[in-house]
Amino acid sequence: MTATSRAACVIGWPVQHSRSPLIHNYWLKRYGMAGEYRRELVPPEEFAAFLGSLAARGYVGANVTLPHKEAALALSKPDERARAVGAANTLWLEAGVLHSTNTDVEGFLHNLDADAPLWDRGLAKAVVLGAGGAARAVIYGLLTRGVERLVVVNRTLGRAEMLRQAFGARVQVARWDEVDAALADAALLVNTTTLGMVGQPDLAIDLAPLPAHGVVADLVYVPVRTPLIAAAKARHLRTADGLGMLLHQAVRGFALWFGRTPAVTPELRALIESDLSAAAGKATG
Ligand code: NAP
Repeated sequence: MTATSRAACVIGWPVQHSRSPLIHNYWLKRYGMAGEYRRELVPPEEFAAFLGSLAARGYVGANVTLPHKEAALALSKPDERARAVGAANTLWLEAGVLHSTNTDVEGFLHNLDADAPLWDRGLAKAVVLGAGGAARAVIYGLLTRGVERLVVVNRTLGRAEMLRQAFGARVQVARWDEVDAALADAALLVNTTTLGMVGQPDLAIDLAPLPAHGVVADLVYVPVRTPLIAAAKARHLRTADGLGMLLHQAVRGFALWFGRTPAVTPELRALIESDLSAAAGKATG
């Protein structure tokens, strides 16, 4: 690695499925920048040692994917976002100190900003389906944008309750059979469950109760056009899909490691979409 050639990687177990190399190497090429972004397959028992040797391996930082996101938080100096979400997905070295953040928060928010401008103006109520790791990033993001009330609907009510305890009084919980009532006066619906993903059950939800000004966001990105996004478009509701979030969450890491804020463009989207379509085809074929 030369002074002008920097390297970053995505660390996972498994890691082959990660689209991060496609995204970051696209940007490096697009901007004519020297640099490299690689995959690193690292088992959990070797993760701490791997992070400790990041600089020696020539890396200025890394993305972290399953199952390392909680360990990454514990082994680095997290910012407020990563702490609130309870997981880190982006790491960078600064004066020898390993810092971390969670870029799913801004990925989610900036995707909505791009595809449904002013979605957060006077945001009185949002409904969040799911209570896993992604839900934490979404809830934290919505609270920072001033949502007045947020209803978490989850199969396992206890997990939703934990989020209410973690994030405070603006968060309420509801059971699946209460979702119609929850949607009736909601300005935003977000699916953070795995339902609707290739190989998973469908997300059986009726969008009819959602007001006409309602916005629908889906975090699932395989397939890109999920049944939820398709149903929302059929009702002429504004939407923000999971692929958009995936691309927007990558921006900060690239800027931190390579020193330039990259753009999320239709060309990049088309590149990743064709890769995802091939994967979805394989999974269903
Ligand atoms: P997770 O922690 O495993 O949580 C999964 C959630 O889905 C839980 O709320 C779980 O409910 C629910 N669920 C799973 N199967 C279900 C079923 N059969 N019926 C009802 N609910 C079910 O996963 P995660 O990390 O939060 O990720 C969730 C999704 O977000 C994944 O599809 C992931 O790819 C996507 N994601 C996308 C991005 C992006 O950039 N677009 C970023 C992060 C995540 P229980 O609590 O009842 O188990």
